[in-house]
Formats: sequence, structure tokens, C-alpha cells
Amino acid sequence: MTEADSAAAERETLLAAGWELAYSGKVRELYVPAGLDLGTAPEMLMVASDRVSAFDHVLEPAIPGKGELLTTLTRWWIDRLGLPSQLAADADARTPEVVRGRGMLVRTLDMLPVECVVRGRVTGSGLKEYQQVGAISGVALPAGLVDGDALPTPIYTPAWKAPQGEHDENVSFERTVELVGAEDAAAIRDLSLRVFEQGAAIAAEAGLVLADTKFEFGRDRVTGELVLADEVLTSDSSRYWDAAPLAEGRVESFDKQIVRNWLSEHWDGEGVPPALPAEVVERTAARYRELLERLTSAG
Ligand code: ATP
Ligand code: MG
Repeated sequence: MTEADSAAAERETLLAAGWELAYSGKVRELYVPAGLDLGTAPEMLMVASDRVSAFDHVLEPAIPGKGELLTTLTRWWIDRLGLPSQLAADADARTPEVVRGRGMLVRTLDMLPVECVVRGRVTGSGLKEYQQVGAISGVALPAGLVDGDALPTPIYTPAWKAPQGEHDENVSFERTVELVGAEDAAAIRDLSLRVFEQGAAIAAEAGLVLADTKFEFGRDRVTGELVLADEVLTSDSSRYWDAAPLAEGRVESFDKQIVRNWLSEHWDGEGVPPALPAEVVERTAARYRELLERLTSAG
């Protein structure tokens, strides 16, 4: 069966079980009880596929086992962080068999349109911005930082979550105040920084550097509480590096960087991206597995 066939078969099985597809993102599918929509369904089923995206494109082929690894990682972090969580009551028992492992039953939250990016290291798009203007998202930084360097202290560099099809846009903290109000803007900033530091400390125990990550928050429709939503500290939403080689100046990633690197060497960004070679797919899958093993066996 092709990727598309098995996705369609999964959709059919879920529909027969009363779950209707409400949204299909680049990587995940959201299902709600038939007859409801994301605005009205108190709970939804968030299903991680094996799809991989880079530079805002979904790539071929998928990475076998990725959806399950990422969902396992999110679940592990939710337990480990001990925060108010989006998980629905009795989530595991009520998750349909066909998506067990990859699916997560959550309360449908009113999502805030802000991607809460926290960076502990300067790299990627943050590095580019720093090299151009000496700051990232308006946060001024000391001169002389190079790729992979630790920032004096982790910084919050939010992005506006653009409507589907548009590119997310880095924004200043002040802009997030306009988007969600002063109180929520400060709350999600502070929570993001706190969870990042907690996550980075736990990762360090496993010999890992959490270089950066992205959180999303939503408001509980019943209690009004702000809740950490979406995926949590996964290798899709975060950069993880191996601490030992890093100490000798080598960045060895446990995340999508493998895919990004290959793609930037083999594609000019125009048109449809080329298919990933089997070796890149396997190496990515292996690194994702290794990350989970490292984290879970350390604590
Ligand atoms: P992209 O394809 O650019 O990643 P996306 O982020 O919308 O777009 P996914 O990450 O695949 O796509 O889909 C997950 C979607 O579910 C996100 O829009 C996210 O904001 C939303 N979401 C995550 N957790 C919850 C929740 N508990 N309640 C409501 N929506 C949620
Ligand atoms: Mg997303």
C-alpha cells in the first residue's frame, strides 16, 4: 500500500468509529466526533503521521515509525514536566486502536496564534538574523557568537502562527501583546522560558543539549486555564544535539537537521523538493529512536 492509500484506509476506519477528519496539517491530522467541528468538539484526536516536513514542504517518502516516536516523546515529556496537560480524561483507553501509539486524545483548546520559540543556542534562522542585525526577534545579543554557541541566557523569540498556507512570521514580544493581550502574552512567554529550562536540564542529564524549541498554548474552554498544547519537546519541534561531540565543536543532531542538511545540499528551494534517499530516511529514523532511548533511559 502506498502512503496515500494507508492514510485513506486509516481515515475510513476512524470514520467508522465515529471520528471525522477536521484538519490535516503538514504532519498531523485532527479528528473530531462526527457531526462536530474544531470549534464545538470538546475533545479531539491528534494523530501524528510519519510524514516529515522541512522548509515548509512535506517530503517524500515518510519516515517509518516517526509518528509513534514523536507521540511517545510528547507523552513522556508531559508526564515528566508535570504541567497542566491537554490530555483528555482516560486518554489512552479511549484512543481508537487503529491509531494507538500515534494518536493522542486531547481536550480541544482555543489555540493562541503564537508559536512560542525559545532558543538556548544561536543556530538556524536565528543565526542568520543575528548575523544580519546582531539581534534575534528584537533581542539584542553580544557580538562574536558563532553557530551553535550558547546564548547568555535562553531567549524568547515568538512567531505569529499564520493561517494555513501562509508562512509563520517572526514577531516581537510587543506584537504578541497586540495579538493575544498583555496578560496572556506575558504568561506564555514566562511559561515557555520555564519549560524550556526544565526541559534543557532534563536533556542534559541524558547528555543532550536542547538547542531550541517551539511551544504552543491554548485556553481550556471550561476552566479558562492556559495549557501547553500540541507536540512537546519533540525532535520535530526542537533541536537536540549530542553534548559530547558538541564539546569538541561538532554538531550531531537528533532531529530534522539531517533532513534539512540533505535538502539544502540537493535542492535550490524552487518547485517540488527531491525525494529523500533511503539512507537519509533510515538515518533520520535511527536518530529519532536514539533520542527517545537516551532520554527515557536517563530518567
Ligand atoms: P503546519 O503544517 O505548518 O505544522 P499546523 O501546525 O497547523 O501546520 P500540525 O502541526 O500538523 O499542523 O497540526 C496540529 C494542529 O493542531 C496545529 O494547528 C496546532 O495548533 C493544533 N493543536 C495542537 N494541540 C491542540 C489542542 N489541544 N487543541 C486544539 N488545537 C490543537
Ligand atoms: Mg505544527
